[in-house]
Amino acid sequence: MAKLSIDLKAGKVKKQSNMIVGIDLGTTHSLVAYIKDGTPLAVKGRQHKNTLVPSIVHFDEYNKIVVGDKAREKLISHPERTIYSVKRLMGKSFNDIRGIKEHLGYEIIDEDEERLVKVKVGNRFYTPVELSSEILKELKERMEKELDAVVSKAVITVPAYFNDTQRQATRDAGKLAGLDVLRIVNEPTAASLAYGVGLDKELEETVAVYDLGGGTFDISILEIRDGIFEVLSTHGDTFLGGDDFDRAIMEYWIKEYELENKGRNFISALRLLAEEAKKSFSTSSHFKGGIAGDTFELEKSVFEGLVEPIVERTLDSCKKALADAELKTDDINKVILVGGSTRTDLVKQQVAAFFGQPVYDDLNPDEVVALGAAVQADVLAGNQKDVLLLDVTPLSLGIETVGGLMDVIIPRNSKVPSRAGRNYTTSVDGQTNLKVSVFQGERDLVKDNRKLGEFILKGIPPMPAGIPKIVIHFIIDADGILKVKAMEERSGVRAEVEIRSQYGISEEEMALMLLESLKNAASDMKAKALLEAKIEAKTILLSADKFMKLNVAILTGEEMLKTRSLTDALAKTVEGDDKDAIENAMHELNTYTQPLAHRAMDHTISSAMKGKKI
Ligand code: ADP
Ligand code: MG
Repeated sequence: MAKLSIDLKAGKVKKQSNMIVGIDLGTTHSLVAYIKDGTPLAVKGRQHKNTLVPSIVHFDEYNKIVVGDKAREKLISHPERTIYSVKRLMGKSFNDIRGIKEHLGYEIIDEDEERLVKVKVGNRFYTPVELSSEILKELKERMEKELDAVVSKAVITVPAYFNDTQRQATRDAGKLAGLDVLRIVNEPTAASLAYGVGLDKELEETVAVYDLGGGTFDISILEIRDGIFEVLSTHGDTFLGGDDFDRAIMEYWIKEYELENKGRNFISALRLLAEEAKKSFSTSSHFKGGIAGDTFELEKSVFEGLVEPIVERTLDSCKKALADAELKTDDINKVILVGGSTRTDLVKQQVAAFFGQPVYDDLNPDEVVALGAAVQADVLAGNQKDVLLLDVTPLSLGIETVGGLMDVIIPRNSKVPSRAGRNYTTSVDGQTNLKVSVFQGERDLVKDNRKLGEFILKGIPPMPAGIPKIVIHFIIDADGILKVKAMEERSGVRAEVEIRSQYGISEEEMALMLLESLKNAASDMKAKALLEAKIEAKTILLSADKFMKLNVAILTGEEMLKTRSLTDALAKTVEGDDKDAIENAMHELNTYTQPLAHRAMDHTISSAMKGKKI
């Protein structure tokens, strides 16, 4: 299988760089790094100050987008237009975020439980992918200033526990930002690479990566053999981090200085002061600071007493991770510290004591993941001769789904051999045949990709739409031959094809297809989002119709009229091409009919109860 060298000269205007950059797309901070004169380096911002970019996106009154430090300033004044912690929403459906919603200051629309979440700002809807792409664009720009050239290739890191959907969402965000994402790398793997772990193929090692960030904690146990990283176990807490340290200090001060009834702005200022105090303990043992004339003080020893129970909780997770990996602390060869909060001395001491060995903390803990991503990028670029590159699929492979959309089953750059499956169902009642069309390429609509073949799964017993369980498997063997199998699980009906035509495509053709996909990423994603909104609106319209017919007796005349006018309005938007108009119309219809639906349900249940004989 080919290794790609993509010629991106078509961009013309600016010099093109072949540099592959490493990006840490974090919950609280993000940053970009690259290899400069053989050493990984994190890139600083405009005023050459900070390498860290707050992962915050603000929309001003004109919907102009501001990212990073400038956006952070708006957190308190414009919480409803300032989006933080987007990473927590990546690849998540409404069902997945039940417990998270309350923690966020902006509006997350909550309509369909299976659908991926969206964020509502003003009367526009944004996907977490779009929001993350804004952060990535900022980093790309930063890198381009540094190199004075256009950058278009990247490695992006994700937590080891990210699932397929979350990884795919991260890939999509990169693409939307104009980046060809050559690989998604686990954060603990990147941190290990930054310390050189895995670059010597003779060495077999087991490492523990302890990552305490702003709002999340992860512990990962990795085994490295023949240059391949395997995650043995991960544990953690998605709501535990430096923010809790700040809160502990704040609560202490509130008690100590009797500040119970101060206003919201004071509390925000106090929180910032608490963070300042926490950070100061890396270099001094006493803190003194002020807000509007009032002075607040804290001893390092008191601080340590406050956060000790929090650190203890992280060690409980470490115990569990070790148990899951069936290892003892003696089996761990290296302990690597990641995340800004591991700058706290107490954390370092406690972790070292727990594992019974000194910890690796020479590199900046909030940069180490990005630095490692840059190392991985360098390996991919072929600059580290001794490190083996595994064979990968050069382009994504998938099938066509409703509306002509490409559904990727094996993403590009997956290791070969590879195997992946996904579940589908029918869209029409009584459907007995299903055509499976296999495509290769990076575009969102199959018409822009290359068709590899198709076959028909025949003889599905007639069932209502949505009931058949059709599993489609893609299997690529070591020679790169793709086999596609489809099976309807309820009846056992099956069919398969073998496709060899990956060899039919030249390297130039592949490079061209990739280039096209990057150039068209934004318009493709728009077209896809519009199509999806239309498909969804049509489903909602159908069920609204059904609902009205079924509940004539329960709804008042006024309710019928209002529902009818809302469905008419929605139907009208579906004719047009304005995605946000469709979303808004769906949102309005849903909001209006939800209480009606509950009432109808109560009615059905109570009449069922009445009819029940005891
Ligand atoms: P994430 O990976 O979640 O984006 P980071 O690794 O950037 O998070 O860590 C951010 C956290 O690190 C914040 O809570 C911040 O206050 C904390 N932090 C930064 N510097 C220090 C320091 N010197 N001492 C203690 N905590 C620190
Ligand atoms: Mg991090």
